[in-house]
Amino acid sequence: MNTPAYSGIIMNYVCTAECRHCMFASAPDCPKEYISPDMAEHLASVLEEAGTSSVHIGGGEPFMNFRALCTLIEALNRHDVGVDYIETNAFWCSEDDLVRERLKKLRGLGVTTIMVSVDPFHIEYVPLERPLRLCQIMNELEFDYFIWQDRYLRKMIRFDRTKRYTKEELERALGKNYITDTASEYGLGMNGRALAIAGNIYANRPAEELASASPCRSLLDVCHCHLDLYGNIVPSGCPGIAAEAADYLNERIDPEKYPVMARLLTGGTKALYAYAKEKGFLPSPDGYPTKCAFCYAMREFLHRTALSADLAPSCFYENMRKHVKY
Ligand code: SF4
Repeated sequence: MNTPAYSGIIMNYVCTAECRHCMFASAPDCPKEYISPDMAEHLASVLEEAGTSSVHIGGGEPFMNFRALCTLIEALNRHDVGVDYIETNAFWCSEDDLVRERLKKLRGLGVTTIMVSVDPFHIEYVPLERPLRLCQIMNELEFDYFIWQDRYLRKMIRFDRTKRYTKEELERALGKNYITDTASEYGLGMNGRALAIAGNIYANRPAEELASASPCRSLLDVCHCHLDLYGNIVPSGCPGIAAEAADYLNERIDPEKYPVMARLLTGGTKALYAYAKEKGFLPSPDGYPTKCAFCYAMREFLHRTALSADLAPSCFYENMRKHVKY
């Protein structure tokens, strides 16, 4: 069995925000489903068996259901899996007392570090006063944290801290090209909702040119994967592709059960292209900006016409369709 390291748990896909760069295309209208106590226990035992010593916790926004978050941490504690950090956009930090109370509860469960999201994409949904309040109280309580990414805190420090900013306001404050500039600086994997940004950075190429026979080995990069609330593992960098945790960690990618993942692993996007064409897929005559955009376009088609277990979660495809038109 492979050992996930530098990996995370997706507690929920629903989020208070709908950021332009979100890898998992999280949004407020994703199902309001959170990790259950049974699934928390199951994933913690899978991680223990695999020899994983610690994970981070993210989403979606994990603080949308604080009780479920604590239940997950308790399960990880029972199985000796530590928490590296919890990611948050700090939407919940509207009152000092609530922030102190939650941080103290988390400290009691052994959590030491929080990752606070601050950037020109999150500020469309969360006013700066919320992450700043969280950081200030973490300083006071000597709680460890890091800001992802603090360069944007420096850029936006003079903003009105009480308001969210629109795209037009951000273009005036940060420059007309702030979306593509931020995506380039961020070091984004350019997948998920960021595929819409990729179309403004890279020139389109025809499907035939993007169909590569090289296996997509990043699919089995167990060093950095995410286990989700449905018991699946989503490989790092390939949102919308999933396998049951035990199958994935034991590299049991059966082509009958996982026709998309198996083809990408053995014959790359070329093999997936042949499969998608069999099912009726016609590539866009305009082409696609990247190999992953082409891969997404085929999977989006297959999700509608030839659904298989590896095209999950459905909320990913449903939300992607609103923003990404490949
Ligand atoms: S082409 Fe598909 S499988 Fe390969 S890295 Fe991109 S999203 Fe993942």
